[in-house]
Amino acid sequence: MSTPLENYLKEAGSSLNAAMTAYVANLQTVSQVAPEIAADVVNELENQRSHLKLVASENYCSLSTQLAMGNLLTDKYAEGFPEHRYYGGCVNIDAVENTAAREAEKLFGADYAYVQPHSGADANLVAYWAILSKTVEMPTLEELGVKSLAELSGEQFDMLRKRFGNQRLMGLDYSCGGHLTHGYKMNVSARMFESHPYGVDEKTGLLDYDAIEKQAMEVKPLILLTGFSAYPRKINFKRFRQIADKCGAVLMVDMAHFAGLVAGKVFTGEYNPVEWADVVTSTTHKTLRGPRGALILCKKEFTDYVNKGCPMVLGGPLGHVMAAKAVALKEANTQAYRDYASNVVKNAQALAKSCMDKGMILQTGGTENHLMLIDVTTYGLTGKQAEAALFKCGVTANANALPYDKNGAWWTSGIRIGTPGLTTLGMNEKDMEEVASIIDLVLKGTKPGLTKEGKPAKGKIELDPAVEADAKKRVQSLLSKHVLYPELDLQFLKKEFVK
Ligand code: PLP
Repeated sequence: MSTPLENYLKEAGSSLNAAMTAYVANLQTVSQVAPEIAADVVNELENQRSHLKLVASENYCSLSTQLAMGNLLTDKYAEGFPEHRYYGGCVNIDAVENTAAREAEKLFGADYAYVQPHSGADANLVAYWAILSKTVEMPTLEELGVKSLAELSGEQFDMLRKRFGNQRLMGLDYSCGGHLTHGYKMNVSARMFESHPYGVDEKTGLLDYDAIEKQAMEVKPLILLTGFSAYPRKINFKRFRQIADKCGAVLMVDMAHFAGLVAGKVFTGEYNPVEWADVVTSTTHKTLRGPRGALILCKKEFTDYVNKGCPMVLGGPLGHVMAAKAVALKEANTQAYRDYASNVVKNAQALAKSCMDKGMILQTGGTENHLMLIDVTTYGLTGKQAEAALFKCGVTANANALPYDKNGAWWTSGIRIGTPGLTTLGMNEKDMEEVASIIDLVLKGTKPGLTKEGKPAKGKIELDPAVEADAKKRVQSLLSKHVLYPELDLQFLKKEFVK
């Protein structure tokens, strides 16, 4: 019996392409051990091809980036940092890490880049500990008058906790668009620090810089943190720098969401965090369009502390993912990528306008970045209901709390949508009108479902079947013009790997 690769080579003839060949070879090799995993990969391709990806934090990385991850670089331990490893034989991992780090420095104009963090949450933990290590000096055992920490009295230990831990962190409140790791009460960041979140203006939904300055002068945080998961506007980092300087804080920015807009030179001057912040963290898989992972950029004086990410927080770095970061960072330093970043914002603004033309209420009245928050209570729905109805019709979005949301953080009153994925597929401002029209159609055709007792249930929906059919057709029509990874022949992959 011939193998999938042999079948592909025979079928493709002279129209053989390298990416498809690599995918078939990869899946064939995987399926020899775990056919169900090969099938999952193919099924995920089908799922992503048949849904409009409006999740603002997701994207589609290039096949070059993906293929850089599937190799033996995963086998090497390399704790430490280049030329300072806890293991021997790291010369090639050093080369990979150095390439990725230098690419990041070049792309963002940063003094130093650390590309080891496995995720955005890890990157923030490394940044917190780096800032603590640099700014809060631990007394020596001698100064404490003990031979080991175990000998400390309760009082001494408390004093140490106050000096080294329990410093103050001031980040954007989770309910106003900040991330869990920015001091949310259920996250370790709120255990490490005394968390003093700031909010947005209740009427406008915007950051109120004067109010943040007033709060910062009262709180005197060790770290003033800005950046967001759900805020549809630019942030003025120059203004944040002034506030940090005035209250004596370290300025940290988490640009996980909008790193691609910084890389693509859409956010420049006072809107470019790298120019103003001491430490900048970012994921690499959202607007930046790289592999799942993260990085840290910092001013020179933080380098030694950030480099201690391992052993302070991290274990061994993921060599294969750092390789993929290097590929994605190189891609981001091209005119094609800068055009992409600028189209992400143009598309977001076109989508926001079309949504508002349909009568939707958008948080802050629009967007200046890649995402927007839509109040779905005007359709009589919760965010969870809107999310479920849209998904049934082939649109992936996520429920998201609006600031000071009466429906709370689980059911929510809003959905968050964004354009990084659709723009990667090549969609334009005209397509965004159709996307807004599909969203409106689906939400108008959805009613809250009922509990057994006949009361409206916050999580259930009743979706008009005619609306569902129409919306699905329109979604598929849009997607058929903008195929995800057109190099990959889905029907062939299904035939060979999904039994
Ligand atoms: N920071 C921000 C602003 C985010 O939006 C996210 C994820 O959504 C993270 C950090 C965490 O990233 P990860 O999921 O890679 O840990």
